[in-house]
Amino acid sequence: MTSSTNHAHSARAVHVVGGGLAGSEAAWQLVHAGVPVVLHEMRPVRGTEAHLTDGLAELVCSNSFRSDDAANNAVGLLHEEMRRAGSLIMRAADAHKLPAGGALAVDRHGFSAAVQEALLGHPLVALEREEIAGLPPADWDSVIVATGPLTSTALAEAIGKLTGEGQLAFFDAIAPIVHHESIDQTIAWKQSRYDKAGPGGGGADYFNCPMGKAEYDAFVAALLAGDKTEFKQWEHNTPYFSGCQPIEVIAASGPQSLRFGPMKPVGLRDPRTGHRPWAVVQLRQDNALGTLWNIVGFQTKLKHGEQTRIFRTIPGLANAEFARLGGLHRNTFLNSPRLLDGTLRLKAEPRLRFAGQITGCEGYVEGAAVGLMAGRFAAGERLGQPQTAPPPTTAMGALLGHITGGADAATFQPMNVNFGLFPPMEGTLRGKERKQALAARALRDIDHWLNPTPLGAE
Ligand SMILES: Cc1cc2nc3c(=O)[nH]c(=O)nc-3n(C[C@H](O)[C@H](O)[C@H](O)COP(=O)(O)OP(=O)(O)OC[C@H]3O[C@@H](n4cnc5c(N)ncnc54)[C@H](O)[C@@H]3O)c2cc1C
Repeated sequence: MTSSTNHAHSARAVHVVGGGLAGSEAAWQLVHAGVPVVLHEMRPVRGTEAHLTDGLAELVCSNSFRSDDAANNAVGLLHEEMRRAGSLIMRAADAHKLPAGGALAVDRHGFSAAVQEALLGHPLVALEREEIAGLPPADWDSVIVATGPLTSTALAEAIGKLTGEGQLAFFDAIAPIVHHESIDQTIAWKQSRYDKAGPGGGGADYFNCPMGKAEYDAFVAALLAGDKTEFKQWEHNTPYFSGCQPIEVIAASGPQSLRFGPMKPVGLRDPRTGHRPWAVVQLRQDNALGTLWNIVGFQTKLKHGEQTRIFRTIPGLANAEFARLGGLHRNTFLNSPRLLDGTLRLKAEPRLRFAGQITGCEGYVEGAAVGLMAGRFAAGERLGQPQTAPPPTTAMGALLGHITGGADAATFQPMNVNFGLFPPMEGTLRGKERKQALAARALRDIDHWLNPTPLGAE
């Protein structure tokens, strides 16, 4: 794909719904490629429960884009890949950064104003302040839906109807996810309950962490005493929580409740003792690569520091490294691994492409990164120069691969970028060296994706 504006007057507009982190970045990538954009943002005509302004790319909570260390940290690497891809979100963040150690923190007002000015100042952008209150009109032949975790109800209902029951969630219920290499396999053993193979299984699909009675009682006491985050008022009053209660709420309903719930030991035998333990914590494979394992049924509102402290008391997880910690929030997202194709189009209606947090990525930077890719895919399609996906070895490609197929569709929950999403490297590198090697490989491969060597020139 070229980045000229030669096509500016010939290409039909792409409609971008939602002027948040993802929609703003998608619009920028489109106009940079010469494709006109109509950007539809409902604020201030209609607000959300979290946005306070009518600015594009408003940061609804923290002002941090997290680590900016491209050599050692997956989100820092994502920053750098996006900069190389001409990201407007990264340009505005860099221009409005505040002192924050190794993190990239921004002046939220300056940041949002810079994004808005760049877009409104571009001759190919038209901004419409309106809610798209149902499926986009049929004559919009290329649409990017980037309406975020707080997508308006009317649009969410229309999308839910189109995708089918249970394929659009209104809450996340995130159990902590552990890196495979940090599970102590001298304690945790592989077995499925009653050794059942099940669909796609081999009868030994779960890691099992055993607890004796004293360990279980201490664990329950720690859950009850642990510091929790409160639900926001508007989250409290929504009826979507049944069936995904936080573990500390289950624990509070009675001392044995967890043993009859997510920690039940039936059908499991600890090979070290030959007996069924008092209670068992199970971990289930979370991605096709087998690098990430989620703690089954452990969604929680415990504060992050408390989760790390308490979950490391589980036998077999003393040295657990967490790819993500648990949570429970209002969050509209698609079952993307089932519904989207490799360039983020809805398989059932390919004129609709999705971007941002509604695709099941998590966080400002990830949302913007998926917006960046969606914008490039839509531009390539419009210009008759189809754009391939970034390689899975890059942070953008790893994130895209996860949400469009690498993650298990049956248990899909939103995810931050992390090195567990990357295809492992050959060899025996561990820890810091492994991350640095993954990051170096990613930067080499993103450069190649952005500037492919012409055929025959290698
Ligand atoms: C309460 C809360 C706190 C959060 N805190 C953090 C945090 O601290 N750090 C972090 O990294 N991430 C945080 N997130 C996640 C963060 O919101 C997203 O990662 C990020 O904003 C995703 O970008 P997005 O473009 O997908 O969505 P958004 O930035 O929310 O953009 C979506 C846009 O679409 C508009 N819109 C919605 N429906 C319609 C419609 N029907 N028609 C037209 N426009 C519409 C909205 O007004 C909004 O401007 C938080 C989310 C919430 C809800």
